[in-house]
Amino acid sequence: METNRQEFRRIWLLLAAFAASAAIVLLAWRSAGARLPENVGRPLTEAEQAEIIARNSPLTEYVYLSGNADFPRESEIKKITIHHMADDIPLERLGEVFAEPDRRASSNYAIDTRGRVALYVEEKDRAWTSSSPENDHQAVTIEVANDETGGDWHVSDTSYEALLRLCTDVCLRNGIQALEYTGDAEGNLTVHRMFSDKTECPGPYLERKMPEIAEEVTRRLKILREGSGN
Ligand SMILES: [Zn+2]
Repeated sequence: METNRQEFRRIWLLLAAFAASAAIVLLAWRSAGARLPENVGRPLTEAEQAEIIARNSPLTEYVYLSGNADFPRESEIKKITIHHMADDIPLERLGEVFAEPDRRASSNYAIDTRGRVALYVEEKDRAWTSSSPENDHQAVTIEVANDETGGDWHVSDTSYEALLRLCTDVCLRNGIQALEYTGDAEGNLTVHRMFSDKTECPGPYLERKMPEIAEEVTRRLKILREGSGN
C-alpha cells in the first residue's frame, strides 16, 4: 500500500514537471518571433504571391516578404513616404537584404529603374523605413532606385512614372482623396529626411519633384473618381 502511494506521487511529480517545462517552451517560442507570419523571409510560390498581391497593389510584380515589420500596423493608411535606394539594387536582391533580421529595415514597396514594383511588407503591416514609427504606422513607404549614384540622385523617367502610378493606386484603394506636400511632416506626402537629419533620402531630384507628385497624383485621382461616378 505504502509503495503504491509513493509510486503515485512520483508519477504526479513527473507529470507536473512535464507540464511546467512544456509551458516554458511554449512561452519561449511565443516571445521568440512566433508573432512573425509564416510567409516572411522565404521564397513564395506563384500562387502565394498572387494571393498576397490581391490584398495589395495590383501593380506588384515581385513579392518577398520581410520580417522587419510590425504586424499589423497600428493606424489606418493616411500617408505615403518616398525614399530612394541610394543605389540601383535589383528587387530580388533588396528582398534578400530586407529579409535579414539584423538589418532591421524594410519598406512596403520598391520600384526599380525599369519601373517594376516589388512588395516586401504588406500594406496592412508597418514597414521599418523612415526613422519614425509614428509616420510609418500611417504611411505606405516606397523605395525608388537611382540611375545616378550621388549628386542629384536622379531616378529614371520609367521609375518616376511607376511611382506616380503606385501612389495613385495606393491612394485609391485606401480612400485617400488627395496628396498634399507641405514640406514638413504635416502633409500626407512625406520624405525620409523629415524624420532624420542623418540622411538626404530621397535625394535632391526626388525631393524637388514632391510638389509635382502631389499635384499629379491628386489630378489622376480626381479623373478616376469622376470616371467611376464617385
Ligand atoms: Zn529613406
